[in-house]
Formats: sequence, C-alpha cells, structure tokens
Amino acid sequence: TMKLDGDALRYLSRDDFRVLTAVEMGMRNHEIVPAELVDRIAGLKHGGTYKVLKNLLKHKLVHHDSSKYDGFRLTYLGYDFLAIKTLVNRGVFSAVGRQIGVGKESDIFEVAAEDGTVMAMKLHRLGRVSFRAVKAKRDYLLHRNSYNWLYLSRLAALKEYAFMKALGEHGFPVPSAVDCNRHCVIMSLVEGYPLVQVKQLQNPDEVFEKILGLVVRLAEHGLIHCDFNEFNIMIDDDEKVTMIDFPQMVSVSHRNAEMYFDRDVECIFKFFRKRFNLTFQEEVDDDGSESILDENGRPTFSSIAKSADCLDKQLAASGFTRRDQDDIEKYIEGGSEEIDSPDSNDEPLADEDQDPDENSIPLAVNMDALCLADQHNFSMSSDDKDTTGELQL
Ligand code: ADP
Ligand code: MG
Repeated sequence: TMKLDGDALRYLSRDDFRVLTAVEMGMRNHEIVPAELVDRIAGLKHGGTYKVLKNLLKHKLVHHDSSKYDGFRLTYLGYDFLAIKTLVNRGVFSAVGRQIGVGKESDIFEVAAEDGTVMAMKLHRLGRVSFRAVKAKRDYLLHRNSYNWLYLSRLAALKEYAFMKALGEHGFPVPSAVDCNRHCVIMSLVEGYPLVQVKQLQNPDEVFEKILGLVVRLAEHGLIHCDFNEFNIMIDDDEKVTMIDFPQMVSVSHRNAEMYFDRDVECIFKFFRKRFNLTFQEEVDDDGSESILDENGRPTFSSIAKSADCLDKQLAASGFTRRDQDDIEKYIEGGSEEIDSPDSNDEPLADEDQDPDENSIPLAVNMDALCLADQHNFSMSSDDKDTTGELQL
C-alpha cells in the first residue's frame, strides 16, 4: 500500500463533512453561502457549525468572504475532499499516492484500491489559471458566476467519464473508466509516457499510422478529439498507443467540426515531421478511387464524417446530456452565452450522509499536495490512523 506522509495528514470528522457538504449544497444557489444557511443545512446542535467552519477555514477547505455578508464557499481542496470521501466510501480506492500529472486544467494522482490495484485519479480544475491562450470571454463567463467552476469541473469530469466508457466499449485504446464523482474521474493507469517525452521510436511510421488511424476512426464514429496532440497520446515500451483527455471532444455535426478535425490531423503530421523526420508524399493513394486522403496525404473530413452520431445515444444514456455538452462547449470555446446555474435536484446530501459506515472510515488527506502541483506525497488511508496524531476538527 501507499505510504503515509504523517505530518501532512488531517482527519475529518463526520461533522466536518456534514458542514462541508452543506457549503456545497448552498453553492447551488449562492456564490458565497451565508453562514446561517450553512448552519441551517448542516443542522448541528449548539452552534456547532460555526466551530466546524472555523476549522475548515483553517485547513483551506472553505474560503471566507465577509464583503457582503458573513459567508463561505468551497475551495478546490474542499471539493477534492468531498469527491475523494465519496469514492472511498464506495470502495473504489482507499489510498492516494503521488501526483503523476499536471494538466492545463487538471491534476492527476495515483490511487490504490484495497487489493493493491493502482489507478489514476483526474481532478478537473476548470477555471484555474490556464496554460492555454486565455480568452477574455472565458474569463468573463467565469467571473460573472464564479461558483460555476464547481459546475463546469463536474461537467468536464462527467463528460470525460462518459466518453472514456463509450470509446472503450467501441475498442478504442483509452484508459478504462472506473468511476466518477463530482470533478473527479477514476480510470486505469496507463503504462508509458506522453508522446511528447518520447525521443525515439522503433517504428515511427507504424506509430504514426496508428495514431492518424485513431483520428479517422473517431470521425467515423461521429467524434472529434479537439486536443489530439503529443501531450494526450501515451505510448508504452511496446509502442502501444493510448489516447487520453476527452473533455473537449465534439460531434462531427459541430459547426466547427472540419476545422477541429483538420487541426487534430495537422498536429500529428507536424509532430512526426519534426520529431521523427517523417515525410508524407508517399502516403498518397494513387489509385484515385475511394481515397480519403487529399493531395498532401491528409485525411479529409468530408470523406469520413458522413455517418455521424453513432455514439450519441450511448453518451446520453451515461448521464451526459446534450445540454451538458452545450454548457461545456460554451466554456471551452469562450462563447458569449451565459451558463445556467447547475440543476438543483442532483447530488443529494443523502448519498454520503446516510452511509451507516460513515464513522468507521476516518479520512486522512495531505492537504498541501492537492493544492500544489509540486508536491508528491499526498496520502490517505483508512487503516493507518495511528501514524499521526489525529487532528480533531
Ligand atoms: P489535461 O486535460 O489537464 O491536459 P490529461 O488528461 O491530459 O489532463 O492528463 C495530464 C497528464 O497526466 C498526461 O499528460 C499524463 O502524463 C498523465 N495522465 C493522465 N491520465 C493518465 C492515466 N490514466 N495514466 C497515466 N498517466 C495519466
Ligand atoms: Mg492533456
């Protein structure tokens, strides 16, 4: 099992989670949740909520804002705790290990199940300062409704999970989708490295063909990756290819589909030309018939995406709806339309609250590691509580 970093661990009590969940619920309708509302939702006796809030604040699980009234909002760390706790209660995993990836808008950690199986946990962080070109409209969107980061990150995770599952079921080389809660996706751990780190290949031509074939096959299934590049393609020692990172995928019926498709194709050509000196003239079919390639050897969108939308039904069935897709596209493209507030009738408090084992699962989390990209010892365990002085919040 994964090693615990004693100093950095904190245990959260049942009341802590109750109050943290109350803040989350309040955020459905309030950017800053009035303290009285938190108290009313949490329903702790004798002003207990206020004492708990103080401690949650101390550990940066909530943020205090008294500019308009005495109120609180969740931090990403607080949201992490809620998702992790839920997944641990479900028995999906029981320990969190080192950070293995920092994406543009995500953090990826190793997690381990009780039986020792190691998986990957992706925590979506939409709205975090992005390496991507910052779009003014996107900032505008988030600032108008700054509690939307919760909603958007949850959507991104749900979408990623739904696509990963559907793609896996159709034989695409993707991590297997294990579970999803809030902004958190649990998937199988991919052996190997992002293509960007690979300096040499045994068979660059074969790998190139395989990767280009994936873009084409996706389009045949009605989908475009939209971020298909050397950062989102993993490759192992046997040169097996796995694609990752799906929150930005769109349907071939999207109005900019052809542009996205061409951009994905071009990324691959460019990377293989520069890194592996591949030349592509000879790739052109010269029998003239049924070719999906243009005169530069590029697959053409129009020749592939005739039979679209094959995966749409499954994706809807997985809980990721057309409206969810619209909302997330507005964010990712920086569209000007406003994003609606999250639905108010999902994510029930009852899920965790009625768990009879609630008290028997002490949850210890290294707070710092989740916040900071350069920390590597985030750990959590349900059976190692004696390794630290338990912090009674
Ligand atoms: P982002 O959407 O923020 O770009 P990614 O899904 O691309 O996030 O993940 C970022 C990095 O984390 C990847 O480049 C990869 O190195 C690592 N990573 C992501 N998923 C996995 C996985 N299932 N197994 C192993 N490493 C992963
Ligand atoms: Mg990525």
